Amino acid sequence: NSFMELHLSRPLLRACEALGYAQPTPIQAACIPLALAGRDICGSAITGSGKTAAFALPTLERLLFRPKRNPAIRVLILTPTRELAVQVHSMIEKLARYTDIRCCLIVGGLSTKVQEAALRSMPDIVVATPGRMIDHLRNSMSVDLEDLAVLILDEADRLLELGFSTEIHELVRLCPKRRQTMLFSATMTEEIDELVKLSLNKPMRLSA
Ligand code: AMP
Repeated sequence: NSFMELHLSRPLLRACEALGYAQPTPIQAACIPLALAGRDICGSAITGSGKTAAFALPTLERLLFRPKRNPAIRVLILTPTRELAVQVHSMIEKLARYTDIRCCLIVGGLSTKVQEAALRSMPDIVVATPGRMIDHLRNSMSVDLEDLAVLILDEADRLLELGFSTEIHELVRLCPKRRQTMLFSATMTEEIDELVKLSLNKPMRLSA
């Protein structure tokens, strides 16, 4: 039961080692092989379970092994709060430190101009809160999600609780139909199930 057995490449294994991760947590052991196989994931997991690395590691692996032709946003990670976005962004920077994958943070409360420049530079991964991401997509001709390969909805229950349902639906519509989607939520309600039906394709259900 080691990260080596999960078939992650050297730069990612080195990053796990540098972070002191000896072995995958249960959600990581369950999620990483399925996500690497391209499956959609509906994960019932709380903060502290290691869910961030569970979706980040296979996503980084995919970016490493399916290089893009043009610079483009390939991965969008939506979180309910600025604080969570900051944490997820920081985790991804740590896991991607031995790669040239670029990740940017798009949240309310920071300069729109600076964020716009960051988006125009076509980072591989965008970690965002829904409202601010929509603002950018509406207002900037040069920012789109046409080449998106992976959409991640983190803490989906809180995204809905905080009233982001309309924004999430709009963002899902702006993503290509052919994509991988992973949704994580601490609780599984009827509303979450509706969101799952709308945005995931034959998801594998996991819990930790
Ligand atoms: P998360 O549930 O993603 O918020 O992660 C909770 C904490 O667990 C973070 O501080 C991670 O750095 C840490 N963590 C994630 N995966 C592992 C692992 N395999 N071994 C040890 N710690 C981990």
